[in-house]
Amino acid sequence: MRITFLGTGSAMPTGSRFQTGIVVEDDGRRVLVDCGSGVLHRLQQSGVGYENVSTVLLTHHHVDHVSDLMALLKARWLAGEEQLEVVGPTGTKAFIEGLLSVHDYLDGRVDLQVREVVPGEEFSVAGFDVEGFETRHSMDCLAYRFGDAFTFSGDSEAFEGLANFSDGSDVLAHDCSFPDEVDVSNHPTPSQLGEALSGTDIGRVYLTHLYPHTDGNHEAMLKSIAEHYDGDVGFAEDLLSVEI
Ligand SMILES: [Zn+2]
Ligand SMILES: [Zn+2]
Repeated sequence: MRITFLGTGSAMPTGSRFQTGIVVEDDGRRVLVDCGSGVLHRLQQSGVGYENVSTVLLTHHHVDHVSDLMALLKARWLAGEEQLEVVGPTGTKAFIEGLLSVHDYLDGRVDLQVREVVPGEEFSVAGFDVEGFETRHSMDCLAYRFGDAFTFSGDSEAFEGLANFSDGSDVLAHDCSFPDEVDVSNHPTPSQLGEALSGTDIGRVYLTHLYPHTDGNHEAMLKSIAEHYDGDVGFAEDLLSVEI
């Protein structure tokens, strides 16, 4: 399996990190998880190509996770691609209908399949067996686990339930939006993440969904996590590819 981070930023721009998007590929199967601003360009830069992404799995509907979704649909339509499947939590159907009623000229341009999934049930997407887990965020949001290989937290506070959900994964990509100095809810600080991960067995943790506040604080953030969690932790970067 190969994981490619397309966007490791968040709702406020850092100038170098685009918004959330991760491509998961294995043996000819491919799914894009989230499609925030800049992801369409990163798909091109990464060599994956927007023509080759026919399935998008959404963690939730915040704008930094969906703003390139209609842009992807349009690019695929213009390139002659005929389909797109969007899979996401409850409310995804109404959300897509809303987008298409605003951008009504895009309605019907490709065969658009929309499917909603619920936490706790394994489902299949683009040939992958995936399980969803409800996170702690300011909106309904699902973390996703791809077998024992990869777990993505989506947007979430760090908490034991989510840490247990990701326990045993080869790779975990986890929201680590802010350094400890920022008082925050709905996202974790490094010490909260370290505390939650303590005692879990994860191959490598990549920190993502980084706000500009994290710039210049990477070492301190890693140190803070390491006070509670002794596993392998690093920062994700846009266009970083990880083989599992
Ligand atoms: Zn969010
Ligand atoms: Zn977000």
